[in-house]
Amino acid sequence: MSLTINRMQEYLYEKYKISKPEDLKNTQRYFYKLIEEVGELSEAIRKNNRMEDNNIKGTIEEELSDVLYYTLMIANTYDIDLEKCFRLKEELNAKRYGHKIRL
Ligand SMILES: [Mg+2]
Repeated sequence: MSLTINRMQEYLYEKYKISKPEDLKNTQRYFYKLIEEVGELSEAIRKNNRMEDNNIKGTIEEELSDVLYYTLMIANTYDIDLEKCFRLKEELNAKRYGHKIRL
């Protein structure tokens, strides 16, 4: 099954609703975690650590996933529909840079 941004947000919301409901609106926590993960991504890129044979630990692939995870979590704390926002932002970019949207 293909994962959409909406489905990922929904999945994370349900997961935290069960395991850590007190953190569902903790934007600051997830923002700090996002910054930590961006630092880890920086290191993985600097070392050019790529995933091989699905061994994701310490790789660019892992850290990109972590950055996505906390981006989605921050969006959830504000009840932001990130998929909708991505489309709206691409519409702005299309006007600004003169390209077509192919979503
Ligand atoms: Mg990480």
